[in-house]
Amino acid sequence: MRSAVLSLLALALLVISVPSVGHAQITVDDFTADFESGNVHNVAADGVDSFTFEIRLDDSQGDLRGWFYFAIANNTGRTATLFLTNRDGWQDATNVPVCSTNNDQWQRVDQTWIAGDWLAFRQELTTDTVWFAQCMPYTFSDFSAFVDSMATDELCHLDTIGYSVHNRPMERLTVADSSLAGTPRKRVWLTSRQHPMESPPTFLLESLIATVTDSSTFARRFRRGIDLNVIGMANPDGVAEGYSRHNVNGINLNRDWQWTIANEQPEVQAIHSLIAAEVALGHAPDFFMDLHAAPDHADFGYRLAPGITTDAFFANQGSFLHLLESYDPWQAAELWRDLDSNYAPGVSCVILYDMYGLDCFSAENPWCRRNDESFITEETLRAQGPLWARAIYDYLCPLSLTDSVFAPLDTVSCGDPLNLCLVDYDQAFRDSLPVVVSSDATGDEEQVYLPRSDPDGKFSLAEALVVSCGSAAPGDGVITAAVGEKLFARYNDPDLPSRTFYAWVDLTARCGDVNGDGIGPDIADLVHLVIYMFQEGPPPVAISITDVDGNGDGPDIADLVYLVTYMFQNGPDLICP
Ligand SMILES: [Zn+2]
Repeated sequence: MRSAVLSLLALALLVISVPSVGHAQITVDDFTADFESGNVHNVAADGVDSFTFEIRLDDSQGDLRGWFYFAIANNTGRTATLFLTNRDGWQDATNVPVCSTNNDQWQRVDQTWIAGDWLAFRQELTTDTVWFAQCMPYTFSDFSAFVDSMATDELCHLDTIGYSVHNRPMERLTVADSSLAGTPRKRVWLTSRQHPMESPPTFLLESLIATVTDSSTFARRFRRGIDLNVIGMANPDGVAEGYSRHNVNGINLNRDWQWTIANEQPEVQAIHSLIAAEVALGHAPDFFMDLHAAPDHADFGYRLAPGITTDAFFANQGSFLHLLESYDPWQAAELWRDLDSNYAPGVSCVILYDMYGLDCFSAENPWCRRNDESFITEETLRAQGPLWARAIYDYLCPLSLTDSVFAPLDTVSCGDPLNLCLVDYDQAFRDSLPVVVSSDATGDEEQVYLPRSDPDGKFSLAEALVVSCGSAAPGDGVITAAVGEKLFARYNDPDLPSRTFYAWVDLTARCGDVNGDGIGPDIADLVHLVIYMFQEGPPPVAISITDVDGNGDGPDIADLVYLVTYMFQNGPDLICP
């Protein structure tokens, strides 16, 4: 009996000590970072399913690090305990790494803590391969695939502006509506990933691009006012090769911007020389924003400090932050910092302002989490894209020609009143602001002062002017213009006179409003048409609006009969083509 018990015990021990297939211990060989953006170094066993590892440093001159990205394969059901032994100061237990079972959707790991000098985390491996990273990866190939897909859109254009040290293309995506060529539009430049590990803003950038290229009213309005240039991968080698902070020459690119472009790294040179060329052509960017991520538990960024720029410029940048926080619930203008002369040299915004006077911001998404302890996710980052697009639009396109409730218009007709609205937050102390409305066709130009309509910086005036398409003499309150042209309104910021803002509408006339007075068709229109047709009188405001029967000819007798029937015998509606 006793020997039987011992035999059973021995058997039980044997069973316990032979692991079942598929539940072997994790080994060092199960780790891999042999894929794009991968980074893991010196993996070593430290007990059962427990490992130490390091971040592979960019080089020997690292000023900050944080990027690891690797996978553990063939260990479904086991739980990995991982110790990052060369963590940077900011990598504490609140900066919880992410993991993924498909290398696409990411979640935070089960458990994170600090073990001595090490960052420790633990995760059950629920699938054959589980990927780990400090933050959700957004790779060079991911962005290439995105911009390639956008390049098929007729609104978008993709070009290669240069090459990285390892010969990767630096691609620029431009969103510009070619049907609007010749209209004054603002030029916005957005860049990300000068620092390779800072993936969060690239998700934001992708959704911002999607927002301004869709078919919504806002997107159309954005494109009427703004051309967008995006260089989403400003350090392609660093991103593709799993670097934290530098390019492959060991240079922090956002400390490498210089007055002498030839002395810069190839990646900086590519962007900087293109901007220099645009400035030389008179196409200077109106707004430049360099996107980053930081260990801080909040969104923030940098604007130019009063010591670097003028008070007026500083106040103007404050208006953008005001707009940004009004749209984006994660932004607080007070958290934004001033980029002053004590800051490290070679930062893109400082050089771009010093050399070209560019309106430049440097934005920072949180690396991991926000003050309310929520983690950033792809969804929250993507949610910010449309909000940033709105803030940028309002900042650069503060003026609009509107309907009577101050909703922006794309078209006005002869005889319509022009309602004007302007929002310039840093002019809130003024009582009124001047706006000039002009017609290229007639040369008429009218200046009107928009009174302040709320304490915050909104100025508006209903029926500021009336559009006259006839030959009436210009006078107060009338802008004389021609059907078919674009009617422009212009505002110069009184503090920054070189900063001009435009709004424009297409000018049309209503079908049958032959004299373009906005009334009718009435007797005056009929008389105007008859005198034109039979007595060589002055022409209608537009020939197309006299083709009231819509048959493509006109004006002819049939149109005249159609018009008379409509006016006096309840005839069918006018149907100008
Ligand atoms: Zn950065």
